[in-house]
Amino acid sequence: MTRKLEFAQELIDFIDNSPSAFHVVENVKKELIKNGFVELEASENWKIEKSGKYFVTKNGSALIAFVVGKGDIESEGFKLIGAHTDSPTFKIKPNPEMVEENAFLRLNTEVYGGPILNTWLDRPLSLAGRVTLKGEDIFNPKSYLIDMDKPLMVIPNLAIHMNRKVNEGIKLNTQNETLPLVSMINKEFEKDDFLIGEIAKELDVNVEDILDFDLFLYEYEKGKIVGLNNEFISCGKLDDLAMVHAGIKGLLDSKVNNKTNVMVLFDNEEVGSTTKQGAASPMLRTILERICLSLGKNREDFYRSLSNSFLISSDMAHGVHPNYKQKQDPTSRPVINGGPAIKLSANQAYTTDSISSAIYESICKMAEVPFQKFVNRSDERGGSTIGPISSTQLDIPSVDIGNPILSMHSVRELGGVDDHYYVYKSFVQYYNY
Ligand SMILES: [Zn+2]
Repeated sequence: MTRKLEFAQELIDFIDNSPSAFHVVENVKKELIKNGFVELEASENWKIEKSGKYFVTKNGSALIAFVVGKGDIESEGFKLIGAHTDSPTFKIKPNPEMVEENAFLRLNTEVYGGPILNTWLDRPLSLAGRVTLKGEDIFNPKSYLIDMDKPLMVIPNLAIHMNRKVNEGIKLNTQNETLPLVSMINKEFEKDDFLIGEIAKELDVNVEDILDFDLFLYEYEKGKIVGLNNEFISCGKLDDLAMVHAGIKGLLDSKVNNKTNVMVLFDNEEVGSTTKQGAASPMLRTILERICLSLGKNREDFYRSLSNSFLISSDMAHGVHPNYKQKQDPTSRPVINGGPAIKLSANQAYTTDSISSAIYESICKMAEVPFQKFVNRSDERGGSTIGPISSTQLDIPSVDIGNPILSMHSVRELGGVDDHYYVYKSFVQYYNY
C-alpha cells in the first residue's frame, strides 16, 4: 500500500471511530496525549513553557491544540489552522418514542445543519453522542460518551408505486417523513423511556441517574476507498473531518518552531457557529490571550502577537462534478486529486485575499503539492465557512482552503486519496516554516 493510500485509510478509520463531534474531540485528545501533549483546564492557572505541547477542550466538542514556539510570542505570533468537528445529521428530540399503528416504534428527530435528506434513506443508521448523568452537585453533572455501534434503525423510503413522481424530485417533510424506524413492538410495549432504558443498559447505569442527552444519528456503514485505481474516498463527514485529521497530523508531524503552532477545532459550523464552542465565540481569542499571559506577557504583547499571526481556515470545497459541469465557475474548476483549492469570493464569504492566497500558494510550492482555485459561479450563492466568522473575533490575515469533493453534505461524500495527502503535506510545511 502506498503512503497516500495508507493515509486515506487512516482518515476513514478516524471517521468511523468518531460518530459524533464529542467522539472527534475524544479521539483527537487520545492522539495528542499519546504524543506528549498536556491537557490544560480552563478553570486552572496555566504554567506553560516554550517548546511545550498543550491542548484545551470546550464543551467536549471543540479543541485547541498548540505547540509553544521558541521565539518571543509578541514578535513571532501564532500560525493557526482551523477546521470544524460537526457534520449535518439528525438530533434525537426529548421524549422521542412514537408508536405507530400499535406496531412500529419510531424516534422523533430534528435536522442538524443542512444534510441532503434523501441520502439518509434506506440505509442502516446508528446513534452516538453524549449522555448527562447526575453528578456531585447540580452544576457539575457527569457526562459520558455513548456509541450504540450497531445497525439500529432505518428511514424507509416510500415505494415508487405509491409515488410515481418520485424521480421527478421529492420534498421530504422533516417532521414525519425522515423519522427512523427502530423496532416492531407488541401490545404491552411500554414506549415511555424506551431510549433512556437502552442508554442505561449500554452505559450500565441506573435509569434514574440519566438527566439528558445530546444524541445524533450516523451512517453505520464504514467509508471505503473506491475507483479503478483506488483514487476516491467514499465516506461520510469528509466535511470537515478530513481537515481535522490532516490538521492534527500536520501539527503532530511538524517540528517546534519560533512561532507558536495552533490547531483549532470549532464545533457548530453547520448551524452558523454562534455557540460558545463555535467560531463566532471568543473561545479562540481567549485561549490565545491566555497563552501570552501564561508566558509572562501583557495585553499589549498579545495584540502584537496577533499582528504577526496567520490563519488557514480549512473546510472542504466543491470539485467539478462530471454530471453537472455547468454548475462550476467557467474558469476556476478544481478537480478531485488536483490538490487543495484556495477559496475566493468577492463578497468575502471566504476570507482569502491576494496576499493570503499568495502565502498559501508559496507553502504548497515549497511542499511540492499542486493547488487550485475555487470561486462560485457569479449567479450561484455558495456556502461560507469558519474563516470569515473567526475573522470577526480575531483580526488576523487568513486564507480559506479545502479539498475539492463531490456530494457535499450527502451521508456519503466523495473525495480524493491524493488530495488528502497533499493538504497534509502543505500543513506540515506551514507549521515547519
Ligand atoms: Zn464544512
